[in-house]
Formats: sequence, structure tokens, C-alpha cells
Amino acid sequence: MTATQPAAPTGTSAKPKLAFRPLPVPQVDVHGFWGDRVDAVAAKTAGILYDRCVEAHMLEQIDPDVPSPGVVIPFHVSDGFTARTVTTQMFWDSDWGKTIETAAYSLYRRRNPDLEKKIDAVIDMYGKLQQEDGYLSSWYQRIQPGLRWTNLRDCHELYCAGHLIEGAVAYFQATGKRKLLDIMSRYADHIADTFGPEPGKRKGYCGHEEIELALVRLARATGNDKYMKLAKYFIDQRGQQPHYFDEEALARGADPKDFHFKTYEYNQSHKPVREQDKVVGHAVRAMYLYSGMADIATEYGDDTLKIALERLWDDLTTKSLYVTGGLGPSADNEGFTNDYDLPNETAYAETCASVGLVFWASRMLGMGPNARYADMMERALYNGSISGLSLDGSLFFYENPLESRGGHHRWKWHRCPCCPPNIGRMVASIGSYFYGLADDALAVHLYGDSSARFEIAGQQVSLVQTSNYPWDGAVSIAVETETPVAFTLHLRIPAWCRKAALRVNGKLVDLEAATVGGYAAIRREWQKGDKVELDLEMSMARLFANPQVRQDIGRVALARGPLIYCVEETDNGGGLHRIALSRTARIEAHREPNLLGGVVTLSAIGSRAETENWGADLYRSKPPVTQETKLKAVPYFAWDNRDPGEMLVWLREG
Ligand SMILES: [Zn+2]
Repeated sequence: MTATQPAAPTGTSAKPKLAFRPLPVPQVDVHGFWGDRVDAVAAKTAGILYDRCVEAHMLEQIDPDVPSPGVVIPFHVSDGFTARTVTTQMFWDSDWGKTIETAAYSLYRRRNPDLEKKIDAVIDMYGKLQQEDGYLSSWYQRIQPGLRWTNLRDCHELYCAGHLIEGAVAYFQATGKRKLLDIMSRYADHIADTFGPEPGKRKGYCGHEEIELALVRLARATGNDKYMKLAKYFIDQRGQQPHYFDEEALARGADPKDFHFKTYEYNQSHKPVREQDKVVGHAVRAMYLYSGMADIATEYGDDTLKIALERLWDDLTTKSLYVTGGLGPSADNEGFTNDYDLPNETAYAETCASVGLVFWASRMLGMGPNARYADMMERALYNGSISGLSLDGSLFFYENPLESRGGHHRWKWHRCPCCPPNIGRMVASIGSYFYGLADDALAVHLYGDSSARFEIAGQQVSLVQTSNYPWDGAVSIAVETETPVAFTLHLRIPAWCRKAALRVNGKLVDLEAATVGGYAAIRREWQKGDKVELDLEMSMARLFANPQVRQDIGRVALARGPLIYCVEETDNGGGLHRIALSRTARIEAHREPNLLGGVVTLSAIGSRAETENWGADLYRSKPPVTQETKLKAVPYFAWDNRDPGEMLVWLREG
């Protein structure tokens, strides 16, 4: 291994500089829209994740007291990796990590001694499995011993460690049990002894980012600065020359060019991260990298990273993001292709990628309230991420297309089950995305029926939101404090909202004067009984894509508030491509409490090209006859929860 020079450090200490910290999960109780989803995860998904991991033989891989299951999922080139090198079974530790994390957050919502006992047993197995030197990988200890740290490019070794670390932090915080936290701290110590700038250490980093943001969480939970420095090292070292993945391939006797994905853009190591200006490669990897970069930018006050992140954010949101907050159109690299390439029917738009966008956006908000990030976080939350989970919490999407001919349905489990526990942990921890707390300010990023408790300026304050959001835009916020306390309340005014009104104790606030970066700021001495009323018009909108998006030209998508809508066959009959909506058609909203758990649907009069009287012709000079038709649209996240059938987001205009 040749020593390589990491980027010059731009910060000298890891003294936390997080300006706006998310509130911990148990300090925010969500009801209403998110309450229903958290209940589904706590009551169903969390247990289902454990059961399906067991059914997939994942327990046998981590339990040193039973014979190794061997290779259960064959090495296969069709997984998109070099033949005989990679199987998704290598990532099973990550599935356990996310399953533990989902279970941890779910325990705040609902006691579940049975599930807790099962998770404790999983943790005991990891405790027994851990090697003397702290190393811990069920794959490399049980299935391919002797090969540790030989293929960071393809084999997700540090990625698995990262997810187990995140699970360990969450489980410790939820239960007070520190066994897994201690196990993973020992493993992180071992990783810190193995990787780093010092002579004799490996100069590598993981092909699938995740360890970076996980080490930041571990550093924050334990107060151990070593983990923060290691996270920063992995960020700084990525893409430096000589390239670690080249050297690593040569060291194991392989040709560096024998890489299935051909370019290091695939894992965002094509150049040092501060020089990157386009979102490229595997979408989930990109989102996790940028999340880790945002953490380090915040912790070290590193503007060089911040500038790169702002550039990457612009690139993603102006050229490569689906209207649903989905991203990564291609199945080939599970990621990005070219600017404005956003096919609808073949959209890969992995659930994990939208979840990753939520992670990234929420971390950008650590630097201060900015609706540029929060609006997009909301878009991904309400659309492209939770579409990945059925309303009852039992079935999952991997891909989230914007158009289906009727063949795309949620499944029970997957050979690569990364998405189910990812959406599970995100939903179960949704409360932590609602607020950002600074020394003398609280930012409200998300609205919804909920109550939050926090300490500010030495005072305990509770904040209760009463709202039927996102179905209705009226949000009433009650501030409760025993002693008057001065702080600034930042309230997001979403860009989709055309008309907003804000009152404090009945008095109208001049929104234009009060709003900076999409947030209205109210500074005052808050007293018991203070009431803030925010009225956000739930504007209905026709959305059009940039004409460079070839798949969407001449088409329109319907939105109401943060929700993107779609039409389904079950409401509209088949042949959705034959429906057209004129630009002048009136769109109406209807509250339907008994549909899909209670939603607002949209309706309009459109037209449908008829196939009758067309005969056997494939082509003819006379256009088809059109008939008036009433179309009904439902929120995109709720599609495929009824009779299977076609689905369409971008309607034809006409
Ligand atoms: Zn996934």
C-alpha cells in the first residue's frame, strides 16, 4: 500500500458546531398523518423486518453457535457486480443494523418486550462473534474468512459497520442498553487503528458510503472525538491519487480495469469530494456521501465542503430529480445518467435514494433554516420515500416509477432488502425531522399534528402543533413555558404555498418583512399561552417539467400542497395514456375520509381517446374520437394499495 496524501485539513478540531440540532426522536410525538405511519411501522413493520431477516437465514450467519449457512444468495453477475466477487448476502449486517434501528425508534412509540428480547439476542450473537481485535463482520468471519479489507470497492465492509453503528446508537438511546454500543465502539476503534493518515495505516474508504455519517453519530453519542476525525478522514481521502481502489485491486492480484461499473463515478471516488460538481453514480451512495459531508462541514465549520454541497444540491434539484423527490433513473448503475434524463415507466428511483435525500436535506438544515433544503426534504418525505411502504406497513417497493402499465407491485421481501428497514427507520424517527434547535432559536421545518418538548435558554418549553396537515394548511402552534423565555421561532413558508398568513396571539405578522430564506422569524419573549397561527393555502398546482425533459413534454403533473398526485386504473379504468387534461379544466379537491386511510383526492373533467370504431387499423389518417371523462387522482405515496392496475403521474395535456 503506497501512502497517499489526504486533503489538507480545513478545520482543526471537531468541536461540535451544529447550529441547528434535530430534536431527539422521543421529544416529538407525532399524531395525524405521520402518527398513522409511525403506528404502522411500530405495530407491524418493525416485527416484520425481524421475521423476514430470520426467514432469509440472516440469524444463522451471525450466530457463532450454529453452523455457517454458507453462500445462501449465489454470487451473480446480474446483481451488477463482477461475477464471483459479490453477493447481496455480504450486506446482511447492514440489514440487521437498520432493523435494530427501526426497532429502537419503534420502542418509543409502543412497548414491545417480545421484539426487544429478539433484538437483545441478535446483539448477544454479535457480541460472541466479535473478534479479539474488535473486528466484526459476519460475512468475512463466517463465509469468507481471511479476506477482510481486501475489497473495499465492492464488498460493503465498512458500510455494514456503519449501519450496525447507527443501530447501536439508536438502540442505546431508546433502551439505555449499551452492549451493542460498546461492541461497535470497539469495532470503530479497530477501524481507526486500521485506516487513517498515519504511516502503516490503510489509506482506504468504503465503496459504499455510510461509515462517515455513522461515525459522526457515534462521536456525538459517545463524545469521542476520534470517531469524528475518522469520519473526516474518510471524506477527505475519497478520490485522492494514487487511487485506493486501483492499488487495492493490484494488491489482490486483480486488474483495476476489471470493474463492472467501469468508472469510479459509480461510487463518487472519481475525484476528491471538494472538487465534485455533479451528482453521479449510484444514487444511494451519493446521498449518504453528501450526508456525511454535510455533517463534517457542520462539525468543522468547513466552508469548502459546504460550497461543494451547495453545488451538488443545485445540480441534483435542477437537472436530475423526479417531481416525486425520487432520484437515480437507471437500474444499470442504480443511479444517475444524464441531465434531464427522467424516464417515468422505467424510473429506478430507489426508495433508499429518496430516504437518503431526506437525510442529506435534514443535515443541510443543521447549518440553519433554509427552505431550499426543507421544501425538498418535504417533497421526498411525502412522495418518493413513503411510496416505498404500503399503508399497513407490511409490503415494500424498491423502485418507485412514475408510470406503470399494471405490473409493478409491492413485494414481501427482496434479495437485496435494503429498502424496507431504511423506510422503516426513517418513518419511525420522523419526529426528529420536524425541528432544528439552536441556542436561542427553534426552526419548524415540518408541520403536522404533534407535540414537542425541548430546553432553550435554560427553560423547558413545549410546543404543540394542532393541524390536519397535509390535508389542510391551518397550523395552530401553542407555546407552553412556565417562565417567560426569549427565543426566535423560525417557521417555514413552503415555496408551493401561494398565500400564507401568520398571526401571533391574533396579531397579523408582516410575512414579507419577517421572511428570510423561506422562513418567517419571530423573536419575542414567549409566555405560557402564546399562540401562533399559520394559515398555508393548500394550493393546487399544475406542474410542468423543463422542456429538456423529453419524457414529460406536453404533460402535466397535479400537486396539492406538498403532495404529488397520480391517477390509478382502479379509479379511472385502463389505458391511462389515452386520458388528457386540458390546461383550463377546473380541478377540485375532495376530502375522502374512508379512502386510503383518509386522503384528499383531486378530480377534473378530461378527455379520453376512444379505441372503438378503430377496427384493425394500426395507423390511419383520421384521428381517434375523444370522449369526455371524469378523472380522479390520489396522492402518489398511496398508490398500489388497492386493486392492482395502471398508474400515471404525468398526464397528457390536451
Ligand atoms: Zn434500497
